[in-house]
This record gives sequence, structure tokens and C-alpha cells, in this order.
Amino acid sequence: MLSLSELKSLLATPQKIVITTHHKPDGDAMGSSLGLYAYLIQKGHHVKVITPTDYPYFLHWLPNNADVMIYTEEKEKSEQLVADAAIVFCLDFNTLTRINELGEVIRNSPAYKVMIDHHLDPEDFDDYRHWNINACAAAQLVYDFIVNELKDAEAMTKDIATCLYTGIMTDSGSFRFASATSDVYRIGADLIDAGAEHWRIHQLVYDNATENRLRFLGNCLTNKLEIIRELNTAIISVTAEELRHFEIVTGDTEGIVNYALSINGIKLAAFIIERSDKVKLSLRSTGDFPANEICKKYFNGGGHRNAAGGYSDRNLEDTISYFKSIVPEYKTQLLQ
Ligand code: 5GP
Ligand code: MN
Repeated sequence: MLSLSELKSLLATPQKIVITTHHKPDGDAMGSSLGLYAYLIQKGHHVKVITPTDYPYFLHWLPNNADVMIYTEEKEKSEQLVADAAIVFCLDFNTLTRINELGEVIRNSPAYKVMIDHHLDPEDFDDYRHWNINACAAAQLVYDFIVNELKDAEAMTKDIATCLYTGIMTDSGSFRFASATSDVYRIGADLIDAGAEHWRIHQLVYDNATENRLRFLGNCLTNKLEIIRELNTAIISVTAEELRHFEIVTGDTEGIVNYALSINGIKLAAFIIERSDKVKLSLRSTGDFPANEICKKYFNGGGHRNAAGGYSDRNLEDTISYFKSIVPEYKTQLLQ
């Protein structure tokens, strides 16, 4: 284990550092990683952000995005960087299976592993942990790490603030979920004071759709939405053929599940998508309904209570039937 004072003294001199985050990184994964990156390079460290896979185009405008290395595209270089690192920061995930093959590379590295995360059930692979499931975003915890643990509020720059604001905004549903407490609003205000242009960040992330994405969304809502009224559940499923037809790329499917959840009375929404290797599920729920429990118990996954994911090795049709066979188990909670 590593104490905070040991970590601080390690960070007092330039170190080789790798920052990594989960598979198919979202706004919080990239915002927290590039926010911490901007902070650490400012302090003179040699830092690389390595993502396990590619990520949505609407995050490519983030400051220092050009410095990110994608593991699947540069395996050898990534592995060398991890092997040479003194510290590996693991952001927005807490089990090494969430970063695919990169997980074992990091497990075997002699580097100190620092976990900054807000998911349930952390695996014990880290040496230092800044973990809080009540945080709305990993980016909130990176802010807290810099400002309150390292006591380095003066180091906040426009780039850091822009990245951290992006992470908090995307994971809190634009400061809308219950997790967006008054403290989160205060952090948001502080980041705006430090230079984050909230209106511009929102535009770059949410008003940046391709024409294909919008037409694909139209198809999902018109032709693919199934509502199970007696269980307050909605499902949108998508075939590989549809993904090809609409030329869907990473990021285009993000957020579509929320449309299903926005229907009045719906408590559980599922987006089920036929990827090349497996069928992926994204679940969203309202109130106390534990979407993560379904993902953990039946779909090799997990997540937060109201936003969770997993996958199935069955084909698309069988996955949909399997999901429909599970939901009645939760009828009482769904009808509350
Ligand atoms: P999404 O539906 O946007 O892919 O994921 C929503 C949330 O569910 C993520 O923030 C993450 O916490 C969790 N999640 C998604 N996929 C998986 C998975 O395969 N395994 C686990 N453990 N969590 C997942
Ligand atoms: Mn997150």
C-alpha cells in the first residue's frame, strides 16, 4: 500500500506516469483522464494516457486529445510505457477486466497503482485508492484529489477545468441526476471560474451529431422501440445490419437508451445491440430500481444503480428473450 504522504513525495519529483481508463471510454473516462494528464504534465511529469479502445468522436476536441494512445492500435508501445511507469493511475473503473487485455499488462507492472473511481465493488489491485461511490463522476474525484488531497488548487488551469467539467457534466446528466449535489454545483462553478466554458462544452458534446446518428436515432424510435407497459419497461434493440446500414461509429449509439427511459411511467430501459463479438446491453433505470443488479447477475457486467451495462454470449434474439424472461422477477419494484 501507499500512503497519501508517500504518494505526494513520489509526485514531488518528475515521474513516468501512465493514466488509463475503461473500455470504450465515455465523457467521464476521457475528461477525468485528460484533466489529470493536464495537471501532471504541468508539474513536469512524463505522462501518457492509454485507453483500452477507441472512443467517441464528440470527445476528440478535449485538450491534449492528440497525445492519447489507444492500446489496440499501439500495443507494444503501450506495454513498454506501462512496464517503465512508476505510477499507473486507473480512472473511472475498479476491476481490471474493464480494460480488456490491458488489465493483465497493468496487473503485472511493478508500478504503483492509484485508483480514482466511483463504482461499486472495487477489486483489490491498487496501492492507493481515492474512491467514493457517492461522487457523481470520476472527474469530481480527480478535482477532489488535486484540490483537497494534494492541496494544489492554484494549479487549476483552463485545460484541466475544461476536462473535469466535461466528465462531471456527462456523468451527472448535465448536473441533473440526484448525484449532482450542491457540492457538485460548487465544483462546477469553480471550474467555470477557472476557465471552463460550460456552454461551449455542452455544445461540443451534445450538439455534435452526425447526420447518420440522427437518422439512426429516428429508426430506433420509430421501428425498434418496444414497450412492455405491464412491467414499465422499454427496450430498443439494434442488429449488426442496421449498424452497417447507418454507418454507425463509436459514439453514435451513446445516449439512445435515455430516450426509452424518458417515456412516462417507464422505470427500466434497455438498449441491446449486436456488436461483432458479442451482444452488449445498456440499462438505465429511475429511482431505486437496481439496473446494476440485473447486469451483474445475468449479463457479466455491473455499473451504477441507474446506469449499468453488460454483455451476453447469446445471439441478439435470444438475448432479448432472455432479458424479457428476467424482468418479471422485478415486477413488484417496477410497478411501485
Ligand atoms: P453504458 O451503458 O453507457 O455502456 O454503461 C453505463 C455504466 O455501466 C458504465 O458507466 C459502467 O459503470 C457500467 N458498465 C457498462 N458496461 C459494463 C460492463 O461490461 N461491466 C461492468 N462491470 N460495468 C459496465
Ligand atoms: Mn464515471
